[in-house]
Amino acid sequence: MRPFSIVNIVFVASLVVIDLAYFAGVVEWWWILIIVLVYLHILVLGAIYIRWNFFLKSYNKGSKSNLIALTFDDGPSTETARILDVLMRQNVQAAFFSIGKNAVNHPELVKRWHNEGHLIGNHSYNHGFNFDWQSSKTMANEITQTNETIKKITGVIPKLFRPPYGVTNPNVAKAVSRTSMYSIGWNIRSFDTKAKDKDALLEKILSRLKGGDIILLHDSMAITAEILTELIVNARQKGFNFARVDQLLDLEAYA
Ligand SMILES: [Zn+2]
Repeated sequence: MRPFSIVNIVFVASLVVIDLAYFAGVVEWWWILIIVLVYLHILVLGAIYIRWNFFLKSYNKGSKSNLIALTFDDGPSTETARILDVLMRQNVQAAFFSIGKNAVNHPELVKRWHNEGHLIGNHSYNHGFNFDWQSSKTMANEITQTNETIKKITGVIPKLFRPPYGVTNPNVAKAVSRTSMYSIGWNIRSFDTKAKDKDALLEKILSRLKGGDIILLHDSMAITAEILTELIVNARQKGFNFARVDQLLDLEAYA
């Protein structure tokens, strides 16, 4: 049973108890408000923290002792080519969770991903701010549209899906199940999209490294391309090896 179902059961049971207590004159009315606010707060946290596996199971970490996986979201984008060059020089295979509409605009980069041995995952078609407010059917259509785009360019159909913003809810859960995708999270969020200082960003990632880590980065960020060589070299010096996220998790990459 998902935490969401357990929280719902506890919420309804608490409401019943508090209502009875209120009508019996044992507690004040605002206890009901507190229960509702706590419930809503837990739902928001469950939506934000993909690692809670609150609404659906996501794969957030591998179990292999010295293997770690680099994952890049939002491309193909401005830094994709530069990042691919670094990965090639360092002989590292990574995963790219692609936004479908960007793939349409840069098929040559999608081909490079595939030809250079990287995994292509699905990161929705539009990645709009409203993604999580859509129906599960619309979400599923976005996932399918991106899969078809990738298939047209490379011949492979992704099975790994990373929810936009890492936000999940019951409709995301339904869309993932409807499209038979695996939901992929992370356990190291670099916040490279907000980072200004290269050393701080590097240190933030390197200081937290443990075996089995899935590291979230973005191939839309210049700072990410700039630290990548150092990140790889330093991680190797610490004894880590790089694997593709599908290998780290023992999942099939493609349908
Ligand atoms: Zn994204």
